[in-house]
Amino acid sequence: MGESLKTQDKLRGWELQSLTGPLLCSLCSLEPDSHDHLFFNCVYSTQVWFFVKSNMTSNINSNSWKDFIEFASEFADKKSARSITSKLLFAASVYFIWQERNFRLFKKQSRSCANLVAVIYSTVRLKLLSLRWKPTKHAKLMKESWKIP
Ligand SMILES: [Zn+2]
Repeated sequence: MGESLKTQDKLRGWELQSLTGPLLCSLCSLEPDSHDHLFFNCVYSTQVWFFVKSNMTSNINSNSWKDFIEFASEFADKKSARSITSKLLFAASVYFIWQERNFRLFKKQSRSCANLVAVIYSTVRLKLLSLRWKPTKHAKLMKESWKIP
């Protein structure tokens, strides 16, 4: 997954250079633009993960794609309400952090960290709304916390 994403990057112009030096991360403007920075070290995405991981089954504390994939596969095959939610949150976070990076870079649009977290949550909530929930005590709690009728 990591490698194919890197190839995509090159096609989409990841290697873009500005006239004054390496392109800076469009989320924080502090560090050169790279995958590792974007998903693991950026102050912006770190804040996003901080909010998102409070609703995940296990703590994410990763600094490489390998750790990241291992973290994701921990709950990938589980069917509990919390595992499914974790998986959806994880996928939505990666997607929207990537999208935010591209919006800033190519569309000159930007959202605050809090806005992005809100988008992630409403996207996941929409998916949760379409699920059939088993009538367990745990699922009931999850539905309450996500305000699902
Ligand atoms: Zn950054």
